[in-house]
Amino acid sequence: MADLKVDLIAPNGRKITLPTGIFINNEFVKGNGGTITSINPTDESEIATVSAASADDVDTAVKAARKAFNDPSWREMSGTDRGAIMFKWADLLDANKETLATLDTWDNGKPYQVALNEDLNEVLSCIRYYAGWADKIQGETIPTTPGKKFAYTLKQPIGVCAQIIPWNYPLAMAAWKLGPALACGNTVVMKPAEQTPLSILFAAQFIKEAGFPPGVINILNGYGKETGHALASHLDIDKVAFTGSTATGKAIMKTASVNMKNITLETGGKSPLLVFDDCDLEQTAKWAHLGIMSNQGQICTATSRVLVQETIMDKFLEEFKEVIKTTSKVGDPFADDTYQGPQVTKQQYERVLSYIEAGKNDGATLATGGVPKKDVGDGKGFFIEPTVFTGVTEDMRVYQEEVFGPFCVVVPFKSEEDAIRMANNTTYGLGSAVFTQDVNRAHRVADRIEAGMVWINSSQDSDVRVPFGGVKQSGIGRELGEAGLAAYSQTKAVHVNIGLKL
Ligand code: NAD
Repeated sequence: MADLKVDLIAPNGRKITLPTGIFINNEFVKGNGGTITSINPTDESEIATVSAASADDVDTAVKAARKAFNDPSWREMSGTDRGAIMFKWADLLDANKETLATLDTWDNGKPYQVALNEDLNEVLSCIRYYAGWADKIQGETIPTTPGKKFAYTLKQPIGVCAQIIPWNYPLAMAAWKLGPALACGNTVVMKPAEQTPLSILFAAQFIKEAGFPPGVINILNGYGKETGHALASHLDIDKVAFTGSTATGKAIMKTASVNMKNITLETGGKSPLLVFDDCDLEQTAKWAHLGIMSNQGQICTATSRVLVQETIMDKFLEEFKEVIKTTSKVGDPFADDTYQGPQVTKQQYERVLSYIEAGKNDGATLATGGVPKKDVGDGKGFFIEPTVFTGVTEDMRVYQEEVFGPFCVVVPFKSEEDAIRMANNTTYGLGSAVFTQDVNRAHRVADRIEAGMVWINSSQDSDVRVPFGGVKQSGIGRELGEAGLAAYSQTKAVHVNIGLKL
């Protein structure tokens, strides 16, 4: 790690020279918080060792971000020029998207085709979408006393923003947070997840080349309890935006109160998918499968509670299991026909297995899966068979707690009222899905579900133009769309007296 770069050859043969430092003031420097060694979840081998940031490094990065925030080169830059830099960065990432996707697959375990065609497309469209917004962020004029007084509003950036992100969509989560923050003119200190530190370092190489002034974007790999905590508690940070578990979100909220930081939290979920007996059964089973088994089940909005009208429970279950059998090929994430790669880490793998035990111990019935998959490669790696439990009651842990793996429960309901009550019987409120051919019922149920998002006859739709976020303990605030700008700007009211004499 002496020259802060390492030459790698990925499992797909791609040669990659990866920076290994922390990125402050447009330069890679050695971090003082020890190192992070990233493990390939497919075969448990070591991929690379990178620097972690100490609390002192956090302080250095915050000073750089503060200086950049106050510097005319950024503060006085027009929105159009800011947008142009963002477009340029997106173009540079676009030219390297195969390498970025390779790093995300290698580090995270997600299928390469998904990393390339879904995650990287989302990264690019998100940065470009917000680049387009950069010169369209403006206030309004409010006539107060006509002819004598009026007021206008200014939309101003919040300041230095800490962004703490998870490992399930390493680059996409970075883009969701950087896009609106930069469009609004903030400066950023980002902490990626320690489980997936690599792709963002490759992306950071192009920040200077794109034209961002030094200190506007700082990237600090590091551990949650050290680097993450140093960010949440720093007195010169104005905002913290976080995606991850509800427990960590609560801890960050508490820590961030030290200087009353503005916060946005996107936390856990136990999202319901409601199947009414008038649905298109074949399509419903396919969407239900995608809703929980894609991305190895590691999606905060995963529809992990499948609630089925009792009249079609048996038929649905049969169809659902058939889709799993024919679609969910578990294997090497670099193989083209793989649907499901390994869980991201040993810890997550063991967590999913512990919930399989909890389901069995609580008396639920294993309908399929429930075991590690050991016949991939040489038997190492964190692979788990897609798992479905039936015979589940609402008080069971597998009904109430977020598992974050290829794991769902299928539970019958009697009536629409029953379905809504069961769907809302959770501390979470992130995603939700309704399958029915009855248009009135679809909208009636969508209105009553306690969730930030509802999919009608679909699951997991996400679009950069559409607000994303949760209610209850699934979070505070919204990302994406125009709503995402609200999280990174503040409104100043300026009152003007043009002729009222006292
Ligand atoms: P986590 O919430 O602990 O970590 C998310 C991010 O927060 C990481 O960057 C981590 O380093 C940082 N962090 C951890 N502790 C911190 C602290 N005290 N102060 C500041 N930052 C801190 O999530 P995890 O341990 O990676 O995963 C655990 C569970 O979280 C998963 O099983 C899943 O249920 C949930 N999760 C949810 C999402 C989501 O998108 N909602 C994403 C990842 C994980």
